[in-house]
Amino acid sequence: MTARRGIIPIFIPHLGCGHDCVFCNQKRISGALHPASAQDVTREIEAGLARCRRPAQCAFYGGSFTAIPVSEQLALLGAAQPYLRSGELESIRLSTRPDAIDEPTLERLHEHGVSVIELGAQSMDDDVLIKSGRGHSAADTVHAAEMIKRAGFLLVLQMMTGLPGSDEARDTESARRIIALSPDAVRIYPTVIIRDTPLYELWRQGKYTEHTVEDAVCVCARILPMFERAGITVIRLGLNPTDELSGGSAAGGAYHPALGELVKSRIMLNRVREMLTGTEQGRERLASPKQLRLLTAPACVSQLIGQHSCNAEALCAEFGFQSVKVSPLPRLGDGEIEFG
Ligand code: SF4
Repeated sequence: MTARRGIIPIFIPHLGCGHDCVFCNQKRISGALHPASAQDVTREIEAGLARCRRPAQCAFYGGSFTAIPVSEQLALLGAAQPYLRSGELESIRLSTRPDAIDEPTLERLHEHGVSVIELGAQSMDDDVLIKSGRGHSAADTVHAAEMIKRAGFLLVLQMMTGLPGSDEARDTESARRIIALSPDAVRIYPTVIIRDTPLYELWRQGKYTEHTVEDAVCVCARILPMFERAGITVIRLGLNPTDELSGGSAAGGAYHPALGELVKSRIMLNRVREMLTGTEQGRERLASPKQLRLLTAPACVSQLIGQHSCNAEALCAEFGFQSVKVSPLPRLGDGEIEFG
């Protein structure tokens, strides 16, 4: 989601956040040091309209919008109203917490042109939510998601992997429970250890085990296909790379500028493993493992080979092939693989 696609992001770092979620430092994540005022909203919209496709959407990110005092919500939303009336903005989206949603709030958002609500579910495991300092329960997320859908908004759910107290099984179960809520889209953020957060201190004290890039790739390669099979679009996987994060604010954890690509590549490796062990053709290849020839869509060749040929090397090591050759086959669709 970038401004180029017609989204004008406006950051309100930590506004309305009554809890210190252990992993969060919106100032370092977004690079915005101060929450936007109504005047800032006007300025950001003007600047955004000058550079992106119209009608655009303005998006309040980085805080808990519906948990800030109503007068402040109205001031921020009010600044966007002239642009909605002129047709330069088509709608507003915002992110908030599951325990900051109720019927009067939703009515107010409707009246002010909000069409998309992003809820930070993060996990559907109460133990993980407690250890992460979220201050809400999984039941709050279920309740809020149902209200938002009933009221006719588009619902985006955000989940995290590798939070304190979680593991691959718990993250997978959270994904399953999030799918059951039928969101219109999801964002998946594997945990990054950001400086100046409680999580950074826990990690330094040895009380939190880092969710590595490899851990994130493993679990996301498992849950991404679950969302795809359910017809739910994953609009983001991994924190947006920024100079601030790359420059040292991301001290550890699953920060990688191409995390989504790594995950797609792992999904393709897993598919080949299944093809080799679960099909007649695959078992024939395994019977005389010399060169393995694979075909895929032209755009997927490098994903299937893997970064620095890691998939090809893994297949040689696991199954005893001497080499793996991947060729493009234009009739194949995205992610499809055949034996050559
Ligand atoms: S994760 Fe969301 S609710 Fe928690 S501190 Fe950050 S912005 Fe606030």
